[in-house]
Amino acid sequence: MPEIRHNWTIEEIRSIYDTPLLELVFRAAQVQRQFQDSREMQVCKLISIKTGKCPEDCSYCAQSSRYETPIESAPLMDKCKVMEIASRAQDAGVTRICMGAAWRAVKDGSQFDRVLDMVKGVTDMGLEVCCTLGMLTEDQARRLDEAGLYAYNHNIDTSREHYETIITTRTFQDRIDTLNRVRKTNVTLCSGGIIGLGESVEDRVSMLHTLSTMNPHPESVPINVLAKVPGTPLADNPDVPWDDVVRMIATARILMPEIVVRLAAGRAKLSQAEQAMCFMAGANSIFSSDDKIMLTKAVPSPGYDEDQAMLDKLGMTIRPSFKNGHPREHAGQPIHLGDVSSEALNEAQATSAQT
Ligand code: SAM
Ligand code: SF4
Repeated sequence: MPEIRHNWTIEEIRSIYDTPLLELVFRAAQVQRQFQDSREMQVCKLISIKTGKCPEDCSYCAQSSRYETPIESAPLMDKCKVMEIASRAQDAGVTRICMGAAWRAVKDGSQFDRVLDMVKGVTDMGLEVCCTLGMLTEDQARRLDEAGLYAYNHNIDTSREHYETIITTRTFQDRIDTLNRVRKTNVTLCSGGIIGLGESVEDRVSMLHTLSTMNPHPESVPINVLAKVPGTPLADNPDVPWDDVVRMIATARILMPEIVVRLAAGRAKLSQAEQAMCFMAGANSIFSSDDKIMLTKAVPSPGYDEDQAMLDKLGMTIRPSFKNGHPREHAGQPIHLGDVSSEALNEAQATSAQT
C-alpha cells in the first residue's frame, strides 16, 4: 500500500496533474481501491440554515450582499424545519447533513446557541453533521465539538496567490487560522476549493499543494465547479471543461488516498457518464437534494431519485454514517503547511501513530 504523504512538492503535483487523462484516471482508481471501498458513495444533503445578506465579497457567491443576485434571503431557520428536512433526507438514504450559514464569522449569542441545538438534534438522529458558518474562535470550535459536530467545512477556495483576486474582505491566512482552530478539537475538517474562478493551472496545483501538505489531511475535500451566478463578478466566466474536473479529482485522490473527495457544486451540469468518470477518478461523495437546489437556487443539484437510479446503475451503495466511528484520534494535531520541514512532518506522523 502506498504511504500517505504530507510532503508533496509543487513539481510532483504538477507532474501528476499533467499525466495523460486515462493514465491519470487509472492511477487514481488504483489508489482508490487500496484505501477505499470503491463501491461506496457518501450522499450528503446541504441545508441553508441562514441565507443571503453576507457582508463578505466572495466574487462567486449568490449570498454576498455586495451583488444583486436572484436569491431570496432568509433568517436563521427553526430547528423543527431543519429536523424535518434532515428526516426526509435520511428517508431517501442520505447519511450526512451539511448546514450552511451566510455569515462572515460566528457571533456568540442566541443564534449560535440555536445552531448548537440543531447540531445535537440532527446528530441524535444518527446522521453525520457538518457545519459551514464562516470564521470561528477556538471557543466556538470547542462548543461545536461538545455539541457532537462531526465536521466543519471551511474551503480555502483557491490558491494563496489567486485568493485576493476573488475575495478582498478576508485573507487566505484567515481561512487557514480557522482550520487550525477546528483541528484543535475532535471535529473533522472539510476543506477544498472551486475551479472556474479564472485561476491558472499553477493556482490549481498550489491549492492542492496547500491541502495535501496539511498534516493530517482534511478528512473531506470538496472540489466545486463554479456555478455562475447572475449579478456576481464571475457570472460570465468561461465554462470548465469536464476533463478538468476529472483531472482535479484524480490528482486530489492520488495526493490524499485516505480521504473523502467530494464532487460538489457543478455536478448538475455533468452527464451521468462524466460523473462516472469522476467516480472512477476517485470522487466518493456527492450532494443530493429533494428540491434540486444545492444551497440556494443559484446552485442546482441533482435530485434524490435520479441519484439513487445512477448509483444503482453504477452498482454503488451509500456509505453509512460514522463509518470510521466519530474520529477523535486527530484531537490536538496542528496542521502543517508545505513550508514545514519533512523531519517535522515525520515526527508529527510518528506522534500521531503513537496516540
Ligand atoms: N459563509 C461560509 C463560508 O464562506 O465558509 C459558508 C457558506 S459558502 C456558501 C460554502 C462554500 O460553497 C464556499 O466556500 C464555496 O467554496 C462554495 N460556493 C459558494 N458559492 C459557489 C458557487 N457559485 N459555485 C461554486 N461553489 C460555491
Ligand atoms: Fe458569505 Fe460564505 Fe458566500 Fe463568502 S461564500 S459571500 S462568506 S456566504
